[in-house]
Amino acid sequence: MPDIIQLLPESVANQIAAGEVIQRPASIVKELIENSIDAESTSISIIIKDAGRTLIQVVDNGKGMSETDARMSFERHATSKIRKADDLYAIRSIGFRGEALASIAAVAEVVLQTKREEDEAGTEIIIRATNLVSQEGVACNTGTAFSVKNLFFNVPARRKFLKSETYEFRLCISELQRVALAFPNIEFKMQHNNTEILHLLPCNYKQRIIELFGKSKNQDLIEIKTNTTIARIRGYIGKPESAKKSQEAQFFFVNNRFMRHPYFHKALMNAYERLLPPNVSPSYFIYFEVEPEKIDVNIHPTKTEIKFEDEQAIWQILHATIRESLGKFSIAPSIDFETEPGIEIPVLTKNTKINIPSIQIDPTYNPFEKEDTSQTNRPRTGKDYFKQANLQNWEKLYAGFENENKEIPEPEVQKLFGDEAESVISVTPNILQLKNKYILSPVKSGLLVIDQKRAHERILYEKYLKTFSEKRRQIQQSLYPLVIELSSQEHNLVVENIEEINQGGFDIRDFGNNTIVVNGCPADITNPNPKELIDRLIDELQNNPQQAGKESDYMAVILSKASAIPYGKALSNDEMRELIDKLFACGNYNYSPDGKPILSIIQMEELEKKLK
Ligand code: ADP
Ligand code: MG
Repeated sequence: MPDIIQLLPESVANQIAAGEVIQRPASIVKELIENSIDAESTSISIIIKDAGRTLIQVVDNGKGMSETDARMSFERHATSKIRKADDLYAIRSIGFRGEALASIAAVAEVVLQTKREEDEAGTEIIIRATNLVSQEGVACNTGTAFSVKNLFFNVPARRKFLKSETYEFRLCISELQRVALAFPNIEFKMQHNNTEILHLLPCNYKQRIIELFGKSKNQDLIEIKTNTTIARIRGYIGKPESAKKSQEAQFFFVNNRFMRHPYFHKALMNAYERLLPPNVSPSYFIYFEVEPEKIDVNIHPTKTEIKFEDEQAIWQILHATIRESLGKFSIAPSIDFETEPGIEIPVLTKNTKINIPSIQIDPTYNPFEKEDTSQTNRPRTGKDYFKQANLQNWEKLYAGFENENKEIPEPEVQKLFGDEAESVISVTPNILQLKNKYILSPVKSGLLVIDQKRAHERILYEKYLKTFSEKRRQIQQSLYPLVIELSSQEHNLVVENIEEINQGGFDIRDFGNNTIVVNGCPADITNPNPKELIDRLIDELQNNPQQAGKESDYMAVILSKASAIPYGKALSNDEMRELIDKLFACGNYNYSPDGKPILSIIQMEELEKKLK
């Protein structure tokens, strides 16, 4: 038998290597920008067409390349950044593998124009699927411009594997975000299909974050800073109340390189413990600086996973720093029903047992009586933490309901001005609805404001969690079968989730041909229109794509959001009372299932200040 092992031709080897480094347009954006940064550019423009399928162009004002280097740069393992094995342990540049350009040139057509400051003319090289097409002198600016055209033209399987334009482009932006956050001193411009998407001027770290994530971040960022012999850590963390379900604004960098680090993420989450409602996490932008010898960036081809020598020590340092900063800014989501003593409202975690507070009614209470402050030893109600809280005013609130069947004289509504007057839909001694959105009620420390939709979301969410965990089916209200035609994308979404949707009280069948039949809806949902309910359900599914690892309560969140009382719905007094009642029976009444605040108290002092 003859020997059968052969060396692969270079073009094939490059294509295989490309599979690792260049998975999609975003990988090219990343590699080219990183090269520009390594070349000490101060301004980088990225021009993209069709999310990178047709064109990705990166133009920099860096140091450029000589004619020979320009040609060499496309060779595999050709790099100017390391020379000997030892250099691998002290990498200060972003790139070092010498693989990117070879890989890109293997799967596309690349035009390179480059010129060094000291050279009069530049060099232009065209390479197609690893083959040199042309190389000649060209008049161009100092710096380097790479144009990558017709990506994966020779690897149809890869081309087919690319997702929608929006998705691929989003990934390109996300790569740009990562470098832009690490190098705020560099100017970045991005154009997509001839429209300018971003123009970031040189600035400091905080300004860059705000440029990228919006002005609202300005109020939200808490600075962290620490210097130890092992690591220097600085950056910004978000306040707990603005924590989100999505993890779009979570960034770790080490020596200016973006990294994923689940272990450090845990340190951070741990430091926020009890400050966050379930299933949300804060935003963060954290920059580590360590001796390059102390990290290994070599373990992952796209270099986002990084191994630290002193991982455990850094965990501790990070944890302590975050704790301290959170403490300094005294951020605790405490809603004081009374100002003294401060009550910490517990936050629901996975393991918290939900205690339903039993609210006792004080039958002697007359809501129209002047407040009697001596009445502090009236019976207390509730269990556990509710015991600690002096719920006197809550009792009053509920006590008011007791009278609900009796004739309650409407209190005189103060004369309100213009719009305000119209916005008051209903007035009772203790509750009123504002703009069909908020429920207002006086409490001891001021005015309680409840968001009606979020409150209802929370109530439904806890109910769904319960029925799901008990594998109990919701009771349905049967309907005259309703046939609904959907777009194929909508149809897919529904069919993918049909089992859980039905567990939540729907009776939906797939009818094929992008059609579904709705035979039943959850019985106790206030929304009377099943078609609208299905529309909202699909909306929520579209707007909140499921994130890996968060499957367990995903459908509970979606269903609760879809079926909650919408804004704009006028509520009767009974409905508002029931809502408040059920809300305060929830394990966590502070936050909606996706982490938004449900209630807020406008403090008396605030009001008094305003009316001074
Ligand atoms: P690496 O970045 O790992 O060294 P690449 O394949 O990305 O490998 O690039 C190969 C070499 O080409 C780099 O080491 C650098 O010398 C040169 N190079 C690439 N892009 C640029 C650029 N924009 N400006 C100057 N030199 C560049
Ligand atoms: Mg590189």
